[in-house]
Amino acid sequence: MLRFDLISIFPEYLSPLKLSLLGKAQDKGLLAINIHDLRDQTTDVHHSVDDTPYGGGAGMVMSPVAWGDAIDQISSDADQIDLVILTPAGKKFNQKMAYEFSKSKQIIFACGRYEGIDARVGKYYMQQKNYKVHEVSIGDYVLGGGEVAAMVIIEAVARLLPGVLGNPDSLKEESHSIAGNKDESLVEYPNYTKPASWRGLDVPEILLSGNHGEIAKWRRSEAERRTRELEAE
Ligand code: SAM
Repeated sequence: MLRFDLISIFPEYLSPLKLSLLGKAQDKGLLAINIHDLRDQTTDVHHSVDDTPYGGGAGMVMSPVAWGDAIDQISSDADQIDLVILTPAGKKFNQKMAYEFSKSKQIIFACGRYEGIDARVGKYYMQQKNYKVHEVSIGDYVLGGGEVAAMVIIEAVARLLPGVLGNPDSLKEESHSIAGNKDESLVEYPNYTKPASWRGLDVPEILLSGNHGEIAKWRRSEAERRTRELEAE
């Protein structure tokens, strides 16, 4: 069972992880999500986790001491623990990464705040043989903290785990899916439901034809068209 552990100074920020698909998946024992408060690791009266940057500059940097203690404390004895350090300077998250993460036994998310986490945290765990460190960004913009980024990744990974989606066929043809074909990443064709006509807009005829071969061809060409249009932007 895949175990997600999140470390944050705002654990309440992560409460949506109890809801919907993720909540049900936890109830069924398909995955586990544990949330940890970084400040529990501090011993000073102010529970401080940050300090001024060496070399000067604006803002505060998160100290490696509490991070190291927190990560050590929640690490399982899995052969490989995936440590995800969320940072806008990381590798951009995508569906391929979601598939890789879905094979993990334990993923620890380090949700930064302020100017981010002291760079030695990533470096230290890269040197430990049972950890694989991933510096991951969810896009080219700067958030206030890593919590939302961690939730994005968990939501994308969890739905790939066996039993989490009611109908696993949903994974086969969706956008960016590599389940069916490892070499391509198309976005999905447009979807329609009832009524067949709405505000003067009709569902494409072919979808009402009952001809599954032609429908499959049409969907494929629509997926290719949408992908081309996105790439041209
Ligand atoms: N000083 C950092 C920089 O310029 O790269 C930005 C720090 S940001 C204000 C605080 C925290 O938010 C980061 O440590 C990271 O955990 C999280 N964060 C911000 N943007 C993110 C993104 N695009 N992807 C993932 N995490 C992000």
